Amino acid sequence: MAKRVAECRRCELGKTRTNPVVGEGSLRPKIVFVGEAPGRNEDLQGRPFVGAAGKLLTELLGSIGLTREDVYITNVLKCRPPGNRDPLPEEVEACTPFLDEQLRALKPSIIATLGRFSTSYVFSRAGLVFTSMTRLRGRVFHVELLGFKASLLPTYHPAAALYYPKLKDDLARDFQKLAQLLEAPAQREPRGVDLSQFM
Ligand code: URA
Repeated sequence: MAKRVAECRRCELGKTRTNPVVGEGSLRPKIVFVGEAPGRNEDLQGRPFVGAAGKLLTELLGSIGLTREDVYITNVLKCRPPGNRDPLPEEVEACTPFLDEQLRALKPSIIATLGRFSTSYVFSRAGLVFTSMTRLRGRVFHVELLGFKASLLPTYHPAAALYYPKLKDDLARDFQKLAQLLEAPAQREPRGVDLSQFM
């Protein structure tokens, strides 16, 4: 896939990026983390979450006894949008077959989405309606997507917590929830969606 991503020109970002950022980590991951898109540092190094947001992500993983090697880290977009602008809908559409392929191959029992772009994409794949990060973060959704079952936990993007330090406590709490999910995968809430959130 790395070779296919490197050669990909399904959208314009392939022309402006320095390096594609496919993702990295365990190929039998306890959790798959899905971010938004590579930033400047990621673009230069070809690795996900290596800048300031990545430092916070690594610390949060450490807070629940995990290293980056225990998990898999990737993004919705594999190439950096110029100036770190938001991904465009056509870029998400062009690029997400790669993310789908990664998720199908890894079949993680837990997927943590970081921020609204990854949450809204993964939600759409699971047949759920994205409302807002404030409403959805920290909640666990037992879903079926791309032909396998997973627990989805949306949380804030670490970069948002750097920008709005108030969000840091929620982010840390959501990682504690991930730790609980890892400890007790059998003690799941009933499958299905709590519809009250949409009312
Ligand atoms: N922000 C993201 O969403 N992904 C990265 O890889 C780095 C920063």
